[in-house]
Amino acid sequence: MEPIGLYIHVPFCVKKCPYCDFYSLPYREELADRYLNALLREMDFYEEQPADTLYLGGGTPVLLGEKRIKAVMDKARERFSFQGEGTIEANPGAVSLSSLTAFREAGLNRISFGLQSAVGEELTSLGRIHSAEQAAQAVAWAKRAGFSEISVDVMLGIKGQTSQSLGATLAFIGELSVPHVSAYLLKIEPGTPYAASHMERLVPSEDEAADLYLQAVEGLARQGLIQYEISNFARPGHESRHNLKYWECREYLGFGPAAHSYYRGKRFCHPRDLQGYLLDPVGDILVTDDAPGGFEETAMLALRLTKGVDFLTLCARFHKDPAPIFRAAAPLESAGLLTVREGKIALTPKGFLVSNAVIGRLVLQD
Ligand code: SF4
Repeated sequence: MEPIGLYIHVPFCVKKCPYCDFYSLPYREELADRYLNALLREMDFYEEQPADTLYLGGGTPVLLGEKRIKAVMDKARERFSFQGEGTIEANPGAVSLSSLTAFREAGLNRISFGLQSAVGEELTSLGRIHSAEQAAQAVAWAKRAGFSEISVDVMLGIKGQTSQSLGATLAFIGELSVPHVSAYLLKIEPGTPYAASHMERLVPSEDEAADLYLQAVEGLARQGLIQYEISNFARPGHESRHNLKYWECREYLGFGPAAHSYYRGKRFCHPRDLQGYLLDPVGDILVTDDAPGGFEETAMLALRLTKGVDFLTLCARFHKDPAPIFRAAAPLESAGLLTVREGKIALTPKGFLVSNAVIGRLVLQD
């Protein structure tokens, strides 16, 4: 049996960032205890099976504290014989050397910090609770605590961001000397305070944001952080094995409100509803796809990776004619949006900027 991945959504934050539409609520001690009980019940619900990646995301999972996180890790080992890559997302303003040491001792070996920017005004405009200095301190503490797999998130297209300010953030990352970076283009999500305040009028234009993205791809490559997915960069061998499961259409179980799963041939999720989850952590499940893993989905997810897709093999697996795909790829290759080599099609950084359109042209032709 292939080991699965485990995703645990922790729906608490210190304060809501105005651009964020991940499901999270203000942290409360009493809610955290009830959440932990519900989560452990849900983890007990599934039959025992091996897992080789675990990802504590959110929200701000470090707010759960050392004891609760240890309880989650113990349960993951008990129910899923968990062994492998264990990641925790962390807000640099919400950790200490002792908490990081405890997380490491609990069995987590990878940490992902939400740096977003090293420029004070940009952090303020994002409503973040940390400074660049705190982020540098948090990374130094993580290293002292024994984390060798450290990632930082960077945001591109922030209000006031310029090529020069992004250059300062990239230089700051170089100083941190971490083996993994995620760089996301800011998206104004409906229903967020950013959308309500029409932030789209104040952030860099689409063309400016595209230039910032290409600057990040090049700048990170110069630091040895090679792009392996639309938004992810790593030194060789330090890619996120958990996230690779998503793009390679491998199965994972998601726990907690708003968590998604791909398990036993179905995609399903929990509603964004902590109270409902606390009442019944195993009852309220919405099936979103009862036949996932088809040709289009497999190709669309895999094309997010810079290694690309071997369409000769994939088409043979799904009994499809590859010729129309290669015909559609030819003009896109001439435009510099992808490369075609020995049956393999891979998007370029320029192609990733318009990935939905490029991927649609390749695989949604009918
Ligand atoms: S800390 Fe992260 S999850 Fe929480 S509101 Fe901010 S961006 Fe969203």
